[in-house]
Amino acid sequence: MIENLELILTRAQQALAGVEQEADLQAWRVRHLGRSSELSQVLDGLKELPREQRPAVGKRANEVKTALEAAHAARQAKLQATALEQALSRERVDVSLPGRRIPLGRMHPATQTLLEVYAIWREMGFQVYRSRDVETDAFNFELLNIPAYHPARDQWDTFYTTTPGVLLRTHTSPGQIRVMRERAPEPIRVILPGMCYRYEQISARSEIQFNQVEGLAVGENITFADLKGTLNAFARRMFGDQVQTRFRAAHFPFTEPSAELDIECFVCGGAGCGVCKSTGWLEILGSGMVHPTVLLNGGYDPQRFSGFAFGMGPERLTMLKHRIEDIRYFWANDLRFLEQF
Ligand SMILES: [Zn+2]
Repeated sequence: MIENLELILTRAQQALAGVEQEADLQAWRVRHLGRSSELSQVLDGLKELPREQRPAVGKRANEVKTALEAAHAARQAKLQATALEQALSRERVDVSLPGRRIPLGRMHPATQTLLEVYAIWREMGFQVYRSRDVETDAFNFELLNIPAYHPARDQWDTFYTTTPGVLLRTHTSPGQIRVMRERAPEPIRVILPGMCYRYEQISARSEIQFNQVEGLAVGENITFADLKGTLNAFARRMFGDQVQTRFRAAHFPFTEPSAELDIECFVCGGAGCGVCKSTGWLEILGSGMVHPTVLLNGGYDPQRFSGFAFGMGPERLTMLKHRIEDIRYFWANDLRFLEQF
């Protein structure tokens, strides 16, 4: 019987040495340590043995059982260690791989131009004055010398709200009245940037929303020479010291006299090209001396005070600078466009 036990032990150990899979290990356990295993049969049959053989056979049988259980545990630990090692090498993180780049955001091209414009006017002592986007008919038109019957109203196709007399501002000029009423009779040096809205057919040249930067200087003894000098200084800072400028007579209801400022075309140097429509000049802003009626509406006595105002479109400046041919790119949110700036 003892020899039989040694045989059971040897065979089980040999079988275990060939076990490589978790499932095989389970099967091995059932076969060699399970209820119907040879070893269990020996243990179950102890009571059938002659009394004097029982202690020796029982002792050895239990030793074999303990040895096989220990061998099973050792094998199981080894299989788990191997499995873990394989998983680690399979799922290894390669730290030498380059990292994934996080795309960097940047300023919208119109915002870049706006910041450039702010910086120039700030250096010349102008503050930024922000005004509301939703305006009344009075501030957007009437107080700027554009009464309801005035034909100039046709120039501003307007978004009206459902509230009578309330509209989306068509230009930043109503801010002039607001800042004058707030500061009169103090002198004023401000720029008024912001979004404007026009009820227009959207095309390559016109959008229903766009930025404007308005400027206003009010004080005593401000003359047309101040307007020319200041705007020339702006043009030189914006487009370079060598830039040639010219003032062209124009008409706006809220300024008198009025002028548009052109700069020599920087694409062709004045020779004439497609960008300047063969004129050699590019229009960059409108300007003029503040109309006496507007000064009065703002709370300034036109006998004592005078001032000048101007307005420009940052999108238009950006289009000229980068030769962008379609204004619709600005709000289309197409990254292929935006990533170029
Ligand atoms: Zn040109």
